[in-house]
Amino acid sequence: MRRCTSCFRFHPGTPTFCAYCGRSFDVRICSRGHRNPRGVQFCAECGSADLSTPAPSASFLHHLSGFVLYLFSALTIALIVIAVVLAVLYSIDWSALTPSLVALVLMLAFLYWTTTLLPGPIRKLGKAAGRQVMKSVRKNKHE
Ligand SMILES: [Zn+2]
Ligand SMILES: [Zn+2]
Repeated sequence: MRRCTSCFRFHPGTPTFCAYCGRSFDVRICSRGHRNPRGVQFCAECGSADLSTPAPSASFLHHLSGFVLYLFSALTIALIVIAVVLAVLYSIDWSALTPSLVALVLMLAFLYWTTTLLPGPIRKLGKAAGRQVMKSVRKNKHE
């Protein structure tokens, strides 16, 4: 996913040019397709002055808008989770479930705590393993 810093539209994958305003992403490309850093005046490979116009470099606002978008989606998910939890809380028999709920929360807290203790590479491995598990779970559901 790429976002044009000129027209602020999203693009799937990693395209070379913005499909809406025709600007290149953070590079200047000559008519023969050579890629150059955004600061050059002539192509470093063929000397051509016919270079594409790059979209402006990502500004603070650009990063901010991305962050806000991320925040909003995170908030939406959080609200959904809270709504579901509340719905469950009001419809269950509390006294019967409290001990197991406490145990579950403690277990999750312990799990989280152990992952923060693990060094980076192992954590990454754990994440990859998690993804693998999710994949097989999804496959099993389909079969
Ligand atoms: Zn654009
Ligand atoms: Zn060139």
